[in-house]
Amino acid sequence: MRAAVYHGNSNVKIEDLFEPDPGPGQVKVKVHRNGICGTDLHEYYDGPIFISPEAPHPITGKAMPVVLGHEFSGTITELGAGVTELAVGDRVTIEPIYRCGECRPCRSGHYNLCTTIAFHGLMADGGMAEYTVVPVNQVHVLPESVSLDLGALVEPMSVAYHAAKLGEVGDQDSALIYGGGPIGIGLWFALRGLGLTRIDVVEPSPERRAGLERLGASTLDPTAVDVPALIADRTNGDGVDAAFDAAGVAPAVESALNCVGERRPLVSVAIYERPLETPLINLVLRERRIQGTICYTSEDYQAVLGLMEQGHYDTTGWVDTIALSDLVDGGFAELRAGRRMKLLVDPTQ
Ligand SMILES: [Zn+2]
Ligand SMILES: [Zn+2]
Repeated sequence: MRAAVYHGNSNVKIEDLFEPDPGPGQVKVKVHRNGICGTDLHEYYDGPIFISPEAPHPITGKAMPVVLGHEFSGTITELGAGVTELAVGDRVTIEPIYRCGECRPCRSGHYNLCTTIAFHGLMADGGMAEYTVVPVNQVHVLPESVSLDLGALVEPMSVAYHAAKLGEVGDQDSALIYGGGPIGIGLWFALRGLGLTRIDVVEPSPERRAGLERLGASTLDPTAVDVPALIADRTNGDGVDAAFDAAGVAPAVESALNCVGERRPLVSVAIYERPLETPLINLVLRERRIQGTICYTSEDYQAVLGLMEQGHYDTTGWVDTIALSDLVDGGFAELRAGRRMKLLVDPTQ
């Protein structure tokens, strides 16, 4: 089978590998689509970061080289020993987290914070391949009306949904999203799914703003309007009920901390590449807070699948598919240059 194998910085090859066999408690999945994530770009251009060059991961036993891909959907083709809760032919999406089950976060149900967490496609051979094997606790069956293409987006949409929940907002609340990339879009869908109608996406790129507007989102250009002044004006100085940073740059954090209401959160879902210097006195004076968020649990997957079943997610204009053979030039390079928003990889091509 064909697979995208990571061998180190700027070194990903499309190789011919043996198909994996499902062990006890695992299923074999024929991959339909696998999304390219910002994490994959970081591994390729700046890594290895999460991928271990030598030491095998304590849970998966795997180090480099590794098949990439943690955002994928597919169809079950084979069951490992002891698997009774799933069937051959099931259309599924994968929640790619391996956890220890024993550390404090695991015991309290927050296994997205497991102290020895591993990811399928980073610390185990992933979904940028024609086939992969996963443990049954990573499998979610797709509702009948949810397409396999949409199934490949459940992972990033669950990242955004988990962040949206941590904003602790209700349907009458207002929200600001900084950054109109895939996670910003996912936040918009998630907050809409939670019933919010007063949401603005702050995004400097005119192309991204146009794409968001076509989906029905209201946008603000931070290079043209003073966002904190506008929000203060609109809300009688109260501010928004939650702000979300999916941009990860200092001006976004500074602006967001000026827009959020008293005792309300700025939820950070960005990968901050550099330390930030930003005045926190406005945090203190209004008892505002910064809330970090990472990944998701199965509850978020189930919530996103429920919203997808209701027809809540629209991929028009921001999701495209490329061939696996074009992964580096047509995928990584295009995304890095900002010419594409979200790309799904077809492993059969
Ligand atoms: Zn990802
Ligand atoms: Zn754990």
